[in-house]
Amino acid sequence: MPQPHLRIAIVGSGTAGPAAAIYLARAGHGVTLFEQAPKKLPVGAGFMLQPTGMAVLHELGLADALLPHIAKISKLHCRTRSGRVLLHLPYAELGRELFGAGTHRATLLDLLLDAAEAAGAEILWNTHIAKLTRDGAQRPSLHDSNGAAHGPYDLLLICDGAHSTLRDQSGVPARVSRYPWGALWFIGQRTPEFDPQVLWQCVGSTRELTGFLPTGTRHDLLSLFWSIRLDQIERWRNTPLAEWKRDVLALAPQAEGFLSQIESHAQVATAAYHDVRMKRWHGERVAILGDAAHALSPQLGQGVNLALMDAAELAHALAAHSLPEALAQYSRIRRKHLRFYQFATRWTTPFFQSDFLPLGWLRDLAFPIIQRVPPLRRQMTATMAGGKTGPFSSLKAGVDYS
Ligand SMILES: Cc1cc2nc3c(=O)[nH]c(=O)nc-3n(C[C@H](O)[C@H](O)[C@H](O)COP(=O)(O)OP(=O)(O)OC[C@H]3O[C@@H](n4cnc5c(N)ncnc54)[C@H](O)[C@@H]3O)c2cc1C
Repeated sequence: MPQPHLRIAIVGSGTAGPAAAIYLARAGHGVTLFEQAPKKLPVGAGFMLQPTGMAVLHELGLADALLPHIAKISKLHCRTRSGRVLLHLPYAELGRELFGAGTHRATLLDLLLDAAEAAGAEILWNTHIAKLTRDGAQRPSLHDSNGAAHGPYDLLLICDGAHSTLRDQSGVPARVSRYPWGALWFIGQRTPEFDPQVLWQCVGSTRELTGFLPTGTRHDLLSLFWSIRLDQIERWRNTPLAEWKRDVLALAPQAEGFLSQIESHAQVATAAYHDVRMKRWHGERVAILGDAAHALSPQLGQGVNLALMDAAELAHALAAHSLPEALAQYSRIRRKHLRFYQFATRWTTPFFQSDFLPLGWLRDLAFPIIQRVPPLRRQMTATMAGGKTGPFSSLKAGVDYS
């Protein structure tokens, strides 16, 4: 039995929150989206939308509006400092029409928020939700940090990201840890040395990794990522930029022109990654989506895609089942896919970002061999494209991920 119209609160307007708001407001539910930021801000890094995330945007009717603003990525190329190819993964191996979409967080967010508002969702900016309480019927109410209460609601969606404050209050068990490694990142004008269709990466030891992602938009941007231990960031800030640029150029000599756009440490942002483990992503009248539910290191570039897919699957479940059944169905249907990507990310990350230097030697020996075996390379490309549910299984046929 599908739902009668519900009063739904969504906390967090990153990726999962606005995507869920579009689906649910279009289905006729009363949706209020709470966001602590004062307004839509052009913040965030470049990221890659995979065919799975793109399929959700197609379903929402938003893909065509995004396409003019993306860089169409045809392949991932990852090499060692000495030029050995570790990974060369062309999307065309999976289907001629497939590609990754290099884009900027603000570009996607604008699109999602405009569609959420057009569908009738109410967006409350500058509203930090500090506390969750429940009434006798277990309906959640929200309390913001100015002391105002909101609700009660029939359903709460927790989409407040990896640092979630509401996840712990939801009663759904979670284990959260922080990776010791993070990234420095910078977005600048793409320079001609970087192919606008290639996500280009280079590794040294497991302590040295850089990546350059064409990020699209009208200004033809490029995002630089540089792996760094979190406890080294302060030291990095107190070291002349020229030293860091020398390290980047040792892996990516073609970046000289691009790096000349960086004149101060303040232009470079930092990112930390979390690992969130949960056995289910729902509780009574509550569902947890996106990074709040399953943050990962960005090694496989799946975070935004997983958040979009969460929103889609939750909305589909609510359209088909009663509320308690829909929430249980949401956890059930997401389990295999999320488990695979959590496992694959945890397994891969130490080969690219860790203090275990021997893993770098092993990586440099094994990856070029695996990469030359077409069925294995295809599995790696399929993993990057976002649709796998196990080492040799994928999301069910019939879902259009092109
Ligand atoms: C360096 C880096 C590179 C990445 N690259 C990729 C990539 O290539 N591909 C990819 O798919 N993903 C990538 N990701 C991951 C991606 O950015 C996240 O997975 C994605 O944004 C998760 O969306 P979300 O909606 O769950 O959370 P978020 O985007 O984190 O949004 C959470 C929102 O909740 C708001 N909020 C938090 N607490 C409260 C509160 N108490 N009250 C009100 N509002 C609140 C926040 O202000 C924020 O707007 C990358 C991440 C990093 C750090």
